[in-house]
Amino acid sequence: MAEFPKGVKNLINAFERLPGIGPKGATRLVFYLLNTPKVYVEDLATCLVKMKTDVKICKTCFSVSEQDICSICRDSNRNIRQICVVEKAIDVMIIENMGGYKGVYHVLGGVVNPLEHVGPDDLRIDELIQRVKSFLTNSDMSGDFEIILATNPTMEGEATALHIKKRLEGLKIKISRIGSGLPIGADLEYADQATLSRALEGRKDI
Ligand SMILES: [Zn+2]
Repeated sequence: MAEFPKGVKNLINAFERLPGIGPKGATRLVFYLLNTPKVYVEDLATCLVKMKTDVKICKTCFSVSEQDICSICRDSNRNIRQICVVEKAIDVMIIENMGGYKGVYHVLGGVVNPLEHVGPDDLRIDELIQRVKSFLTNSDMSGDFEIILATNPTMEGEATALHIKKRLEGLKIKISRIGSGLPIGADLEYADQATLSRALEGRKDI
């Protein structure tokens, strides 16, 4: 079989590292780009670099942001007494697109996964505990404070939710878990909006 030129091979390898893209898909993308006007490819390259330099991580909730603090955390109409804890920043977008949720978020950056050597310390759990504690200290606490554990209903997501619940024990707050309606092993990312809405509405205290 003829060898691809080095530039082609390198780009195929780079695309293959992206989630959900196998060797065939990567090759198809590279050949698509080879036959695309140069200006489009240049534009794509600029967007990629700009995304990495311009997009920041919100210092409060760890979601993606164009400023140090994201637009959700800066929005005074959001209920800061309700924190929805999610695995990834994309989950924030998914819940936002669903509409209806008026609280704020906390992005863990993954889930506890012993097989992949991810422990609680690798996630932003300490930051969450600190955030809750400093809120409880600095507020007059008129009204409830709720943590909604919205990690995926997978084994790792459940274990992570349980770990966080234990860490929050003793604090006078309400802790709930989404789930009803979401199939076991599901990923928030692929749930339809109605199911996700039901899962959030039907969350249970744990
Ligand atoms: Zn934020």
